[in-house]
Amino acid sequence: MTVDQAYAYLEQSVVAGRLAQAYVIEASPRGNGLVLANRLMQRLFCTDTEKPCGVCNGCRGVAHATHPDLHRIEPEKKSRVISVDAMRAFQHAFVTTSFSGGWKVGLIMNADCCHASSANAFLKTLEEPPEQTLFLLLTDQVQRLLPTVLSRCQRISLAGGDAVLPPGDAYDAVMDVLRHMGGMGRIGAMSSAAELARVMKSLKESLVKEEKTLAREEEQDIDAETIDGRAGARYREVRQQILMMILCWLRDGLLLFTGSDQDLLRFPEELEYLRTAVPASYQEGLQRIRIMEAAITQMNRNMPESLTLGHAFLSLYGTSRS
Ligand SMILES: [Zn+2]
Repeated sequence: MTVDQAYAYLEQSVVAGRLAQAYVIEASPRGNGLVLANRLMQRLFCTDTEKPCGVCNGCRGVAHATHPDLHRIEPEKKSRVISVDAMRAFQHAFVTTSFSGGWKVGLIMNADCCHASSANAFLKTLEEPPEQTLFLLLTDQVQRLLPTVLSRCQRISLAGGDAVLPPGDAYDAVMDVLRHMGGMGRIGAMSSAAELARVMKSLKESLVKEEKTLAREEEQDIDAETIDGRAGARYREVRQQILMMILCWLRDGLLLFTGSDQDLLRFPEELEYLRTAVPASYQEGLQRIRIMEAAITQMNRNMPESLTLGHAFLSLYGTSRS
């Protein structure tokens, strides 16, 4: 489901007065998951007739996470865990009635980071939900939620479908690397890996900058560690998109080798350059995909990026006919 489709569905439930008490939103928690959650909360808190208007106090309170009836909990910076103490404080906010006399919303960022004891504590709230209260659980690892929690929530998945591409600038920079990484042998492979590492580094820096600006706008006391944590989480999302983009590129090369229909290509507009990604044999094509998948796994296990990329690119193209 796209964000628009999911929102249309939720909006219908709001209008019909049939909103569930809790939704698990399966999506990137600081990416499209938050976009959907914010839009729904603005729909509930907006004080204008055209909801959500985006400019009233209610809508702005959601955008800046300062609305008094919006309570948010996220993993602690160091442990990356939502502790039971933090959960109890969060739950306590729902004992009293709302400030505005309307909805109260509890937003659980990275709900999969709940410690088992905090998930169990939260379960009590789900079993006896306060009135006019909505819980939104954001996670990209739905399999890590307790089944008992999951069974009391409606599930909305923004995952699936085509791999999400990285945002504009990063997409252009990575595409430039992809266009030139085949066909220059060892030196080409190494310089492509170095260029990709450079793109990722500058992406990381710009995300830290962005999170600092956002923190200033939120006008709350947010420490450097939290900012780093947020930027790091967003960076890992975009990095995953970049790595998937490389995987799709290699897959396109294999599809061209097998003479598949061009409608199946992920990057049909790059046909000219994709010819450099066509393997010499089906085996080689498969092997390249396996190499890249292994590199992705290693990076997700926190292996050093530039080293992993360098090795992977050398194995991909370093030995091919140059
Ligand atoms: Zn509004």
